[in-house]
Amino acid sequence: MIIQEKNAGEWPDYKSFWKKRIKQTDRVYSRTIFNWGEQLKGFQAVAESCEMNLPCVALWSLLVIFNTGDVPLCNADFNLKYPLGSVKERSIADLWRSESMMKQRIKHLEGRKGNIDICMNCNVWDEPGVEDKISIKYAESQVVGKRKTGGVKETEKDGMV
Ligand code: SF4
Repeated sequence: MIIQEKNAGEWPDYKSFWKKRIKQTDRVYSRTIFNWGEQLKGFQAVAESCEMNLPCVALWSLLVIFNTGDVPLCNADFNLKYPLGSVKERSIADLWRSESMMKQRIKHLEGRKGNIDICMNCNVWDEPGVEDKISIKYAESQVVGKRKTGGVKETEKDGMV
């Protein structure tokens, strides 16, 4: 369920309705509506932004490939504002480790994600503090701690182990 203005408050009923009807392997899931990197017209937030200072997980966890072969920065870059290249010309591994991707990752790690316009106020990963969610205070402390103790290892920058 995408929680937005019109259905705010319905999640508990929705969840209990479906919990009784799903298989063990299924999951009833909710998330708050997000702004697609501030590209969603008429967007109205229903949750406080809670991780504006954190690097975005998208840059280390997913690679989107359009049906044209073009690869955008992330799942929110549906207009291909930040193209990484094309799988018609380069391998997926190459695009994942590309200079453009690395530059954007470093901006996020160094607290400069506001230099990328779609990332500046993006709230794709915002969630209110509900069940099964990591504490934002804990997450923030991990990032700040890392910055204070000598920066970020190369393996963390490119997402490869
Ligand atoms: S913060 Fe940037 S990289 Fe992350 S989902 Fe939003 S637009 Fe994409």
